[in-house]
Amino acid sequence: MTHYHSSAHNMREVIQTVRAFAAKELAPYADELDREERLAPGIFKRLGDLGILGLTVNEEFGGAQMGALAVVAVMEELSYACPGTCLSYLAHSLLFVHNLCQNGSEEQLAKYIPRAVSGEIVGGMAMTEPNVGSDAIGMTTRAVKQEDHYLLNGSKMFISNGPIGDVFLVYARTGEGRQDLSTFIVERDFPGFFVGKKLSKMGMRSSPTGELVFTNCKVPLENLVGEEGFAVKHMMKNLDIERVGLAAMSLGIARACLDNSLKYAQERLQFSQHIINFQSVSDKIANMYIGYRAARALIYEAAQVIDEGRRANQEAAAAKVFASEMATKVALDAIQVFGGYGYIREFPVERLMRDAKLLEIGGGTSEILRNIIVKEFTRKNGK
Ligand SMILES: Cc1cc2nc3c(=O)[nH]c(=O)nc-3n(C[C@H](O)[C@H](O)[C@H](O)COP(=O)(O)OP(=O)(O)OC[C@H]3O[C@@H](n4cnc5c(N)ncnc54)[C@H](O)[C@@H]3O)c2cc1C
Repeated sequence: MTHYHSSAHNMREVIQTVRAFAAKELAPYADELDREERLAPGIFKRLGDLGILGLTVNEEFGGAQMGALAVVAVMEELSYACPGTCLSYLAHSLLFVHNLCQNGSEEQLAKYIPRAVSGEIVGGMAMTEPNVGSDAIGMTTRAVKQEDHYLLNGSKMFISNGPIGDVFLVYARTGEGRQDLSTFIVERDFPGFFVGKKLSKMGMRSSPTGELVFTNCKVPLENLVGEEGFAVKHMMKNLDIERVGLAAMSLGIARACLDNSLKYAQERLQFSQHIINFQSVSDKIANMYIGYRAARALIYEAAQVIDEGRRANQEAAAAKVFASEMATKVALDAIQVFGGYGYIREFPVERLMRDAKLLEIGGGTSEILRNIIVKEFTRKNGK
């Protein structure tokens, strides 16, 4: 497994390594993986060998001990090549690995993290339910304490890596108060754990998404993360890095659209000239670059705040809203630059448009994130 250390030099090394891997091992297969709705064989093991499944994890557990800046750089590179694979990578490395490292005990980390960092086991996180999405705190999955285990009942919806994962952080209600929620580590082999149907999606199709069902699922007492009632704290701790990670996925998509559009506009002839010579086409490409750079600045600023150990609630929300909406717009413009070929499946931009749209929804919709930005002003003003 490759080992990295946190410094500007090593950041460059990580980016170059991931870029080369993604160009060779992911980009050429992205269309096929999208069509066949599957991940590349053994991809988690290979990402583990690359040393990027535990970017933020301490070295003692096999991690690279880097920060949010490294996370966003890697997300952009993977998403540039194959956004769907990057989404599964994010669910594993941030929603499971990073979250457990922030909130779990030494014993829990020792049991799960080294195997997750090597890619031996695949993780995910289950918060959303069939009837509870944006209002996550209103979840109804319940865990009831018995003598030597918890009994978990309920179901979770839209879970990235659900159909293939070995272990999940699952949020469930453990009391009557609205915030009486707790976090559990739930393994696929626990009795009463069922994988529901795999969902067929518009985009991000290489990332397997599914429903998880718990029917009197027996979870050992030692798999409670932290204390009962701590789940909201756990969620909050992880949200900022999750959101900048998702935002950086939009960056990768926008850059892929920009590169494809520029190349096509420089080659395509109409009216005996390259279409880049028509200003309405070149303006679109200029605007793609402007949007990409602006989003990049927001994302790197938010990542910097996280790496300084401060909460980046507003910054991360702003970065995700701006970057995801920018990427959808850029992808739609890329289709326009390609004309009829943009609408055809053999060309990558229509897939990138389908992939881009998810990022306005997952990890907090743009509507909810705008609410959060405004609520944060009210909180800061003490009103
Ligand atoms: C491909 C994919 C992967 C996912 N992966 C995971 C995962 O790994 N783990 C996980 O737990 N979840 C996952 N999700 C779930 C995702 O986080 C939710 O879909 C998202 O939070 C929105 O919830 P919802 O779909 O129930 O929409 P709803 O909450 O029902 O929202 C519907 C619409 O109403 C709007 N709305 C709702 N409330 C408000 C409000 N107060 N103000 C303004 N507008 C509002 C929303 O913005 C949206 O436009 C995934 C989803 C997808 C599609």
